[in-house]
Amino acid sequence: MSSSADRHPLTSRRSWLRRATTAAAVGTAVAALVGAAPAAAPGGTAAAASHRAAPGTLAAPDIPVANVKAHLSQLQSIATANGGNRAHGRPGYKASIDYIKAKLDAAGFTTTVQQFSYFGTTGYNLIADWPGGDTDNVVFSGAHLDSVSAGPGINDNGSGSAAVLETALTVARTGAQPTKHLRFGWWGAEEMGMVGSRNYVNRLSSADRGRIDAYLNFDMIGSPNPGYFVYDDDPTIESVFKQYFSGQNIATEPETEGDGRSDHASFKNVGIPVGGLFSGADYRKTAAQAQKWGGTSGQAFDRCYHRSCDTTSNINDTALDRNSDAIAYAVWTLSGA
Ligand SMILES: [Zn+2]
Repeated sequence: MSSSADRHPLTSRRSWLRRATTAAAVGTAVAALVGAAPAAAPGGTAAAASHRAAPGTLAAPDIPVANVKAHLSQLQSIATANGGNRAHGRPGYKASIDYIKAKLDAAGFTTTVQQFSYFGTTGYNLIADWPGGDTDNVVFSGAHLDSVSAGPGINDNGSGSAAVLETALTVARTGAQPTKHLRFGWWGAEEMGMVGSRNYVNRLSSADRGRIDAYLNFDMIGSPNPGYFVYDDDPTIESVFKQYFSGQNIATEPETEGDGRSDHASFKNVGIPVGGLFSGADYRKTAAQAQKWGGTSGQAFDRCYHRSCDTTSNINDTALDRNSDAIAYAVWTLSGA
């Protein structure tokens, strides 16, 4: 997540509900999950739950947190081998792109590296498309891959990058063939003010923007003193995430600390419905929050935010696990997988 000094005002907002056909389709999917398949709520094993699910409704798989953590170890090694960071314009950033692209290529994704220039330095976005599904209805999940130059950026935002990667790899592993088209993105130069995602969105035609039903953003989801925050930008997307957490008896709060401070802003600013998850940065956990989530009140959600100590030690495994599973739940639910 970019620092609060980079905060950009959000000016436009398109209601999901204005898009009648899409809203009807998603509403039906959510209603089917709520009404017909309570036993398929997340938390059961994927196999057991899918047997109890309504016909055509498969439970989202569990994302193995060990795999997510293995990606974080690789990103840490990349930073360590490249001057301690994975920042825009530094070799650790391109090495991070190469690592994620190789995994996706091997799994059968169609990948594209998009270059952009920021103050004379080349930046990179990585886009991965899962073949199939209706490309007029795209469910797009993304995370920024760059760190600040001060540190390796493992919670900010190796965590979102690794969870989105493992979700994509799980799509491939399970052979998912959702009704909608699945796209995944890793953005460059977010820490300079969402530069990569703005470049991506600016290059889309208005027709292509209209084909994106949902952009889901994950920036800091393994904070060491975690909170469970759900973006409240689009009510339909928000309700899908909240459904996941209520099925796990985990309280959530609307996300406010990161408003306009990550890549979802680039999409929201051109009218694309957005949602996402966040476990907190340098705001302090209140006593009430510590009561419902555990952890330490009066302490920042992430004391290593934008610091050199944002290493693999700066991750709460439970938060990383829950949020990774919530991503899969939303991707499967919103895409009709
Ligand atoms: Zn950041």
